[in-house]
Amino acid sequence: MTVQECLQILRDVKDVAFATVDEKGVPQVRIIDVMLVEEEKLYFCTARGKDFYRQLISSGRVAVTGLNREYQMVRVAGRVRKLPEQKTWIDRIFEENPSMKSVYPGESRYILEPFCLENGQVEFFDLGKSPIYRESMGFGMERTAQKGFVITDACIGCGECKRNCPQQCIEEGSPFAIRQENCLHCGLCLENCPVQAMERRGE
Ligand code: SF4
Ligand code: SF4
Repeated sequence: MTVQECLQILRDVKDVAFATVDEKGVPQVRIIDVMLVEEEKLYFCTARGKDFYRQLISSGRVAVTGLNREYQMVRVAGRVRKLPEQKTWIDRIFEENPSMKSVYPGESRYILEPFCLENGQVEFFDLGKSPIYRESMGFGMERTAQKGFVITDACIGCGECKRNCPQQCIEEGSPFAIRQENCLHCGLCLENCPVQAMERRGE
């Protein structure tokens, strides 16, 4: 999968969950339309009166997730930028999404502000496959963040993790190794290793 393909899944689903954190540090989530996806950038808009708008301006961050009919989930978390040339972008968004004209008729559309999500982390998670398949990618200015677990040289080869793994994604060897693309990140291997040979990636 590419970043563009992942963002396009969100565009195809269109109505997806956008999460922010409010001024009290409380998570907030709502359904927002993905208005446009181009060149590894995701575009959306919201009205200046909404709490969502204030939270975007205050933190500059958002997390987005959606699931399609094939049980493919895409999750994006990153930095947003309010776009200059507001009227030009809102007109473009309305051209690409004509149903917006009935929600914000005439000049009322200009209460909306356009935003671009262009730096962050994308995660693709395919629950329609067995074993599951996942991929993580940094995009824009961000490098890919490491998640899940890795088996270190402390492994004694007992096989306990492999016997317990719900996706059977641990290969024998010295040390044993996790097929990262099939891992649920459930942590069962971590809890069952008798010599603590598992480490969280990226720590
Ligand atoms: S449970 Fe721990 S020691 Fe045993 S094979 Fe797995 S990683 Fe190695
Ligand atoms: S985290 Fe879960 S799915 Fe991944 S290797 Fe460990 S037991 Fe298997």
